[in-house]
Amino acid sequence: MKKIKLIIKYSLFLLIIVATAAFIFGPKYFDKTKNTTTFTGNVAPNSLLDSIPFIADLHCDALLWDRNLLDHNNYGHVDIPRMQETNMAFQVFTIVSKVPEGINIIKNDANSADQITQLNLLQLNPIKTWFSVKNRALNQCDKLYEFAKKSNGDFRVITNKRELQQFIIDRKQNKKLTAGMLGIEGAHCLENDLNNLDELSKKGVRYIGLAHFFDNEWAGSAHGMVKGGLTEKGKLLIKKMSDLKITIDLAHSSVQTISDVLKIHKGPVLVSHTGIKGICNNQRNLSEEQIIEIGKHNGLIGIGLWETAVCGNDAAATAKNIKYVTNLIGTDKVGLGSDWDGSVKAHFAVTGLPLMVAALQNEGFSKDEIYKIMGGNIRDFFLKNLPE
Ligand SMILES: [Zn+2]
Repeated sequence: MKKIKLIIKYSLFLLIIVATAAFIFGPKYFDKTKNTTTFTGNVAPNSLLDSIPFIADLHCDALLWDRNLLDHNNYGHVDIPRMQETNMAFQVFTIVSKVPEGINIIKNDANSADQITQLNLLQLNPIKTWFSVKNRALNQCDKLYEFAKKSNGDFRVITNKRELQQFIIDRKQNKKLTAGMLGIEGAHCLENDLNNLDELSKKGVRYIGLAHFFDNEWAGSAHGMVKGGLTEKGKLLIKKMSDLKITIDLAHSSVQTISDVLKIHKGPVLVSHTGIKGICNNQRNLSEEQIIEIGKHNGLIGIGLWETAVCGNDAAATAKNIKYVTNLIGTDKVGLGSDWDGSVKAHFAVTGLPLMVAALQNEGFSKDEIYKIMGGNIRDFFLKNLPE
């Protein structure tokens, strides 16, 4: 009897040790192992980089992780000190709130177990985030404002035109200034209630991807079970997003969803992180017809910095996809949509941006065209389309 009691006591002790270790080291372990880079050497400086007035990127999932973005980290892809180091002005921080177990590019079931629930538990996030995707989104929004508050003025969150204009003016005097904006991956965050859009809008969310890796109540995903188009509710969502000046992001949308949106929505759209079918033929990438149609809508296409998107594992592959877009719709409607910190092996972290500039030079783009592609187009898109 005494022996059994002793075994139970030691087992409990061991369990507590293991659980404590999991909570302390687990979140960092996942961040470190999921957000890696292909390029690991020293980045050669590029003389054009520092002259670029506004370097920007359309898509980064850094808020998902338990990482202090005010620290200069030696893992993960983005943080504010590394943005400053590389003359980067602006990053859209996108919110991931639900990821099906066994996630893949072909077909995912919305009802399969969700990996973000486990991550929220492991990160010891507020209980309200454990079972509500909307609360997860709101919590990630709050994290970005918290970073801004503690940044000593180095980082600010942009929510409207006026703030962006002011940021551009201020940054001319101080190149260490950085800014972020909030976006969402997947309208499932609305928890099937259109009224929740008001709350997310008030929090500063300025673009929403209609579907993420699975079909939802509003729209079909490129990786869903059915891959349908916009639902009747989805059409109401489009209308309300337009009224609130929240841009539609078509990244991850099914072919039918993209076609439905471009038919009924006359305003601009984004594809925040993607690649091009003509170079890299997979079901999430854009066809020639889609690119031309997005061009007609005065849209903006963000080209990814990871292998699945561009079929190559370096900046040259991304530059090639960019060239394909510019050949079809000119140099004003394309930018970077890295998917940094989105559980991808990126070509490089934010400090590798000189490699991107060099790759664009190798593709024959002029200095002015590189200024646009590296961020000028993203700046101009939001100057035009953010709420007043
Ligand atoms: Zn994504």
